[in-house]
Amino acid sequence: MCIFCKIINGEIPSKKIYEDEDIVAILDISQATKGHTLVLPKKHFANILEIEDYEYLKVMDRVKDLASVITKTFNASGVNILNNCGETAGQTVMHFHVHIIPRYENTDVKIEFTSHEYNLDEIQKEILKSLKQN
Ligand code: 5GP
Ligand code: ZN
Repeated sequence: MCIFCKIINGEIPSKKIYEDEDIVAILDISQATKGHTLVLPKKHFANILEIEDYEYLKVMDRVKDLASVITKTFNASGVNILNNCGETAGQTVMHFHVHIIPRYENTDVKIEFTSHEYNLDEIQKEILKSLKQN
């Protein structure tokens, strides 16, 4: 059983800030910033590519509300909503979850993108082709 499933069934303690029949929100054990929260479905889905729409929409709906509450509670000046999907993308717990990371002046969180020279026309063409096949 995965670590988040153990948290959900009470085998491992956690600091819950929201719970209903389908989802739960807990404080991340490693606080990237004050108020760093994880929102997850109670049913186990490995990642965003696997999760069913019902649970996904419930999680995201709550993410929006909690992001608002948490930023107001701690007077954050911004917030990052983050999902890592797959090891390559930095996912370490293979149970779908969304991070709410409130942002403050002078906090040392680094979420950076580097720019690469890809041909946008070709990329657009390939994605549009895939979309037509669905
Ligand atoms: P990921 O890297 O998969 O996107 O995020 C996993 C997150 O789960 C990490 O930020 C990590 O700190 C958090 N985490 C790992 N184990 C536990 C735990 O036992 N309890 C809580 N509350 N958070 C955990
Ligand atoms: Zn799980």
